Amino acid sequence: MDYRFIPDLTEEQIADTQLEGLKWTTAHAFQGSPFYRSRMEAQGLEPGDIKTLDDLSKLPFTTADDLKNGYPMPLLSVPEADVVRIHGSSGTTGKRKILAYTQNDIDVWKEMFARCYELAGLTVEDRVQICVGYGLWTAGAGFQLGCERFGAMTLPIGPGLLEIQLQMLTDLKSTCLCSTASMALLMGEEVQKQGLADKIALKKAIFGAETHTPKMRKQFEESLGLEDSFDIVGMTELYGPGTGLECMAHEGIHYWADIYILEILDPETLKPVAPGEVGEMVVTSLKKEAAPLIRYRTHDLTRLIPGTCPCGVTMPRMDKIMGRSDDMFIFRGVNIYPGQIGSVLENFGDLSAEYQISLNRSDGLDHMAVSVECTPDSGECNNENLAKAVANEIRKHILVRSEVKILGPGELPRSFAKAKRVQDERGND
Ligand SMILES: [Zn+2]
Repeated sequence: MDYRFIPDLTEEQIADTQLEGLKWTTAHAFQGSPFYRSRMEAQGLEPGDIKTLDDLSKLPFTTADDLKNGYPMPLLSVPEADVVRIHGSSGTTGKRKILAYTQNDIDVWKEMFARCYELAGLTVEDRVQICVGYGLWTAGAGFQLGCERFGAMTLPIGPGLLEIQLQMLTDLKSTCLCSTASMALLMGEEVQKQGLADKIALKKAIFGAETHTPKMRKQFEESLGLEDSFDIVGMTELYGPGTGLECMAHEGIHYWADIYILEILDPETLKPVAPGEVGEMVVTSLKKEAAPLIRYRTHDLTRLIPGTCPCGVTMPRMDKIMGRSDDMFIFRGVNIYPGQIGSVLENFGDLSAEYQISLNRSDGLDHMAVSVECTPDSGECNNENLAKAVANEIRKHILVRSEVKILGPGELPRSFAKAKRVQDERGND
């Protein structure tokens, strides 16, 4: 298949592009950024030492703390006059992360994002409703830049604003929805509630920014009448969203390996995990000018998918983001990611995809309670046998005891942005 934006590169061509980009990035960061220069000098390294792709492992890591310490313009490797744009992350603790872009950075980003729309099978006839955050956040800007570069029609709405969203869906007949999975679920529920299903023309959704379960996805695909949906990845530190997208074969996410190198490392040892195993994503940018990333630790967990994709695209694949090492909580000595609970719930047809975990401590012992919702047709609210069955499955898969409560449909709080899954009230007593 001939693509307009997605390059058709062999493994060797990708490796050559990566080596060239790695050499350029190292030299550029060494010359332009006092931070990177001192980090490399501390290791006795200079750009000339990077001769092969294996030499990447000699380079020091960059962390979120390095971004905070360099606030407000960390990692800056060009004169400030060359910066044309600033974006920032939500910054859950303390200072937010601010990242600078040159015009060339913006151009690379929009080409990369145009590839995503192409991979999702959109055409210039499509109408793309963008329901993600605008402003300082990268999401809205990225989805819009990419859409305009691709040539489809952009409907920039932003998050929330349910009435306007529904109005645009029915009046302008948007064909593609871009949002978080929670937002897509919420809109699906509203479309059903207001009986709008045959007045809208949605065919596809591109969703991302949070972990989701196949069940959540099936739920919004059905309620919105979608033909297909695609998981997108990205982070503010690395341009923003659009650094990879699931393809129509749904066997992983193609990532743009000519724009950045993805290493999957054991978060403890920081050595590569075996091919196909889960570890932390560590990224190195190959073309980024204003704020290049050298071995940046993302704390996102995923794995590389070996082999070639049946869709024919030669760009390598990663799995969906399986959670963040930061979201992990330790309960009675067991490391748990919230997504693991979500996976267990997928086995129960009478339950919705929503769940909330609360942790508390009494009599010196930790307790875990999991609240889930039954589906509107199931009538299983407060069913104790079903609750016990869920608790048994959790115990079988995650090896911990929990108390499960089955709520009625819609009783758990909904969120426009990232759903908050864990409430930890254990304190320090
Ligand atoms: Zn594919």
